[in-house]
Amino acid sequence: MHTYDPIEHSIQAVTPTLCKLLGVSSPTLCKASPLENICQQAQEIFHGDHAQKCLIFAPDALGNHLSHTTPLFFETVRHLAPMVVSLRSVVPPKTPVCFASMFTGAPPAYHGIRKYEKPVLSCDTLFDALLRADKRVAIVAVKDCSVDRIFRGRNLDYFSEPYDPDVTLRALSLLKENHHDVIVAYHQEYDDTLHATTPFAPEAIQAARKHLEEFVKLSEAVDRYWQSYHRIISFTPDHGAHISPTTGKGDHGEDIPEDMELMHFYGIRRRG
Ligand SMILES: [Zn+2]
Repeated sequence: MHTYDPIEHSIQAVTPTLCKLLGVSSPTLCKASPLENICQQAQEIFHGDHAQKCLIFAPDALGNHLSHTTPLFFETVRHLAPMVVSLRSVVPPKTPVCFASMFTGAPPAYHGIRKYEKPVLSCDTLFDALLRADKRVAIVAVKDCSVDRIFRGRNLDYFSEPYDPDVTLRALSLLKENHHDVIVAYHQEYDDTLHATTPFAPEAIQAARKHLEEFVKLSEAVDRYWQSYHRIISFTPDHGAHISPTTGKGDHGEDIPEDMELMHFYGIRRRG
């Protein structure tokens, strides 16, 4: 008999988890606990050491709704990043609200983004915590998207790109240059397409599959260029999506399973 497994963590857990894996103190705003299962496995893989490098891939709207219609939808990702955790988004599950929570470890009431708006966050974030620990950070995102806007003003490298393929190319070149310790790469074509069609329209599914293919490229580059470092690759989308009964098109922003339920994936690899 199937027993319902309640989802214990929210996407706020991303920040304390990455901080613990990298051996960095969490930002002061952080309210969430690290994902102990992930941290324990990293301890074993790194023999008690910390990760030295981390690539965070953040594809917009790739929620668990996709595996409801296609059960093995994320199998490519799982193959490369086999540590999987079920997480809930935050309310309302809209992009800037979600990424603010994901990269502060705090609920919307604490960081202040509670609706679709893109102010620069003045509170303490994952990126501030990384910079205090002398980590070199790059955020690569589509120009003027939430991830491109809300973490501005820090002493890190921002790369605003025309669209997803440019984000991938930039992230690949940064991996090759090997100047940064933590790189965020954000993609948005699936979200753009589901709003124009539905979350399961062929065009939308094709866009979602592109995100998976780009993740494969990035994962291969992480192994090639960061081979001599303890490293992490994470696949951390922000929210899911549903079909709006009013418009008949894709949408998100409601406290319903289709919008809220996510799977995040971590690949933890030992140097050498
Ligand atoms: Zn989003």
